[in-house]
Amino acid sequence: MSEYSAVEGLKQVQESIRRAASDHGRDPSGITLVAVSKTFPAEEIEPVLAAGQRVFGENYVQEAKAKWPRLRERFPDAELHMIGPLQSNKAREAVELFDVIHTLDRPSLAEALAKEIARSARKPCLLVQVNTGEEPQKGGVIPTEIDAFLEACHSRYGLQIEGLMCIPPAEDPPSPHFALLNTIAGRHGLPMLSMGMSADFDAAIQLGATHVRVGSAIFGARSRPSK
Ligand SMILES: *Cc1c(COP(=O)(O)O)cnc(C)c1O
Repeated sequence: MSEYSAVEGLKQVQESIRRAASDHGRDPSGITLVAVSKTFPAEEIEPVLAAGQRVFGENYVQEAKAKWPRLRERFPDAELHMIGPLQSNKAREAVELFDVIHTLDRPSLAEALAKEIARSARKPCLLVQVNTGEEPQKGGVIPTEIDAFLEACHSRYGLQIEGLMCIPPAEDPPSPHFALLNTIAGRHGLPMLSMGMSADFDAAIQLGATHVRVGSAIFGARSRPSK
């Protein structure tokens, strides 16, 4: 066991979110903390669940499948969010496992998700990832194509989209990216904005984030590299 306390990290992040909400004139109840537990084993997630946190983010279908069914037996009201790149051939497992998918970003995935939603009794909440920095190595729809993609999700695939997600380029100041995401969401009347991580959730809250995805500030530094 490490000395690091994720429960202490959780309390600090919750307090920082409350402070950011107050600083920026927002109701803290409109901001959901998604605790990003990727790479951390179930034993390190359990105390955070026991402390009352219920919303968690994972990046990999296989890893989430290995950890969460058992955690959910003890905490049936835990809500699981997929925040990593999703392969179309994992759509079935993703629809079974996740309550919210933040990373819908291409027609083939929209088609695969629509098919799995139709055949299962499940209907995860869907967000479209926007590649606001237009980085070739990163997932997400580029801003000039987002209007057409959202239209196709609706009319071609019959999917209801609830919001947008972005990961700003590491080397950029994040605020212009958050502002752009907010503008696109406003244009389409989308209520959910998933933006802000450990280093920049204050700025994201200022610019309208409804979901902040915070990992290392809660769980500590990840020893395994992650995408
Ligand atoms: C890992 C990850 C996070 C959390 O990052 P931290 O810097 O540890 O808070 C948030 N969003 C996505 C998409 C991630 O992959």
